[in-house]
Amino acid sequence: MTIEQIINQVKENDPKADTAKIMAAYSFAKTAHGDQLRKTGEPYIQHPLHTAFILAQIKADVPTIMAGLLHDVPEDTEHNINEVRQTFGSEVAELVDGMTKLGKLKYRGIDRYAESMRKMFLAMTTDLRVILIKFADRLHNLRTLEGVKPDKRVRIAKESLEIYAPIAGLLGIWRLKWQMEDICFKYLHPEEYKKVEYRYEIEKKSELNQYIQKVKTILTEKLKEEGVAAEIDGRFKHLYSIWQKMENKHRKFDEIYDVFALRVVVPTVADCYKVLGIIHSLWRPNYNRFKDYIAVSKPNGYSSLHTTVFGPEGKATEFQIRTRQMHEEASYGIAAHWSYKQKNGSTGTQQPDWVQNILNIQKDAKDSQDFLRQVKLDIFHDRIFVFTPKGDVYDLPEHATPVDFAYAVHTDIGDKCSKAMVNGKITQLDQELRSGDLVEIIVEKNRKGPNTDWLKFVKTKRAQEKIKLYTRRARLTALGKSMGGKIGKYIPTFRKNKK
Ligand code: MN
Repeated sequence: MTIEQIINQVKENDPKADTAKIMAAYSFAKTAHGDQLRKTGEPYIQHPLHTAFILAQIKADVPTIMAGLLHDVPEDTEHNINEVRQTFGSEVAELVDGMTKLGKLKYRGIDRYAESMRKMFLAMTTDLRVILIKFADRLHNLRTLEGVKPDKRVRIAKESLEIYAPIAGLLGIWRLKWQMEDICFKYLHPEEYKKVEYRYEIEKKSELNQYIQKVKTILTEKLKEEGVAAEIDGRFKHLYSIWQKMENKHRKFDEIYDVFALRVVVPTVADCYKVLGIIHSLWRPNYNRFKDYIAVSKPNGYSSLHTTVFGPEGKATEFQIRTRQMHEEASYGIAAHWSYKQKNGSTGTQQPDWVQNILNIQKDAKDSQDFLRQVKLDIFHDRIFVFTPKGDVYDLPEHATPVDFAYAVHTDIGDKCSKAMVNGKITQLDQELRSGDLVEIIVEKNRKGPNTDWLKFVKTKRAQEKIKLYTRRARLTALGKSMGGKIGKYIPTFRKNKK
């Protein structure tokens, strides 16, 4: 890997990008790492170079790519974060620092999964781009896993499959998700991997490639006649998802039909429907397999038209039809939105709630600095993330207390809470929680109910209402008893409170 390859990729993404800065970051990192070697025996600088290249491929912005080049400098060389800040400014330094912290944070008392999730959420609240760098770093480490001891290999692969890949999916960065999954699959289930790989890569793909070529030729010609400019590509399902399908649906390899699809990328939404019509006029569609994810996009924001037709030789053939923007979003997720913002100044598809919020902010943001500031303010400001010992994440308003947390988890836990452990230490019930805290509520089984004094410090509406309700109910019960129990049936029961 060379810096020129990275610069070429960046220029392809954005011809106006300031590549001199990338060059400078590279020189700094190269000098800093000197003649260090990786466990694989190659020069250390290859690792940051690959990390930066992966970032360039997912169209990350220039500061992110610079931080990718510099990400191991403070940790592994004699040059510290202040030098990075002085040389490259605070934006790049914060990204590098975020990466270093992500690797360093160590908490006791929780399992690794919870710990990693917590780090991720914390990093997301600071700057989402840190996560992108972490993904790129992890992907390259996975690619060079051969140089690592076998037990560590399995641990890294497992962690990547359980934590990194799903978060990449959550952020819609499919390209990184499937690459990570296939590598992890290889290390975690080597026998199955070999089997699927053999059947698929060696036996099936060459046969399929010929078929795809045939379909492509027919369609290309027809589209030309109709005057639609389209890019058509064959696309294979990746090994891990085939294997998962075999496992989950108890199918044999030969029973998995949708191992390939043809992807048609066109300029406009109108073209998508036009191409759909053309395909259906060429081959008979299987209407059970038609999905309009443009009219109604998937919850994660995915949009495309999917149709399966009986193609040449009557073979079931899936087409995925989409615009260039849909394609970029499907491949690069949140990262694509940055580059789209830069190029076109707009985004237009449905996204899951918090991503949608981020995107709305992005539309109005003046520049990427402003964007990040707004994300922090609007989405994560006033909210903190706290964790249960099991690693579940709860978001609460700022200044929330253990009692708010207890009621967020369950009414019973709120009503019966007596003490709280925050990060392993017993604390007062009115202590303010902070983002990243690990909170454990100790319940007193025989406790009758909440203390009205709690109303003085709880911050959530839910906790307030539950406490008031309980007190009112208790008073009525007492009153009822004094009246001979007759009032009992009028006591309100706990309603399910929708947030
Ligand atoms: Mn690294």
